[in-house]
Amino acid sequence: MEKRDIVQLLHRQNFRLTREREALLELLMRTEKMFTAAEWHALAQQQHVRVGLTTVYRLLEVLTKVGLATPFLVEGSVYYAFCAGQHHHHFVCLACHHVEDLYECPVFHHLPKGCQVHHHKVDLFGICPACQEQSEAGQVTPGPPM
Ligand SMILES: [Zn+2]
Ligand SMILES: [Zn+2]
Ligand SMILES: [Zn+2]
Repeated sequence: MEKRDIVQLLHRQNFRLTREREALLELLMRTEKMFTAAEWHALAQQQHVRVGLTTVYRLLEVLTKVGLATPFLVEGSVYYAFCAGQHHHHFVCLACHHVEDLYECPVFHHLPKGCQVHHHKVDLFGICPACQEQSEAGQVTPGPPM
């Protein structure tokens, strides 16, 4: 999905993109990791995108509503990753919080007979190859990245 279409989708949800909000959206779009709203806010500040925490919450909420962000519940915290394009699933690394999109959908091989499925979610959580290598090398597992 192109940015132009995303901007239109957001407008339809009454979310107007100021220059700063657009910079926040671009940050989300190019980051293949999940962060909590507070972490996204801190990351935005680091990159000199001056938006308030409320705006971060609001954008994440609107993006989730229109299917352009996915919330992940990990150890009691809600993390968000940007999602665009066609139907997919995720592999989420619990060490570095990298989110990989999986475009192969396994679900319909396991459908109970006669059931009509309207939507579904499959997200896999584990440790990515890079983090496995790091822990094998005896290095400290990184905490949530900033
Ligand atoms: Zn996704
Ligand atoms: Zn990792
Ligand atoms: Zn699927």
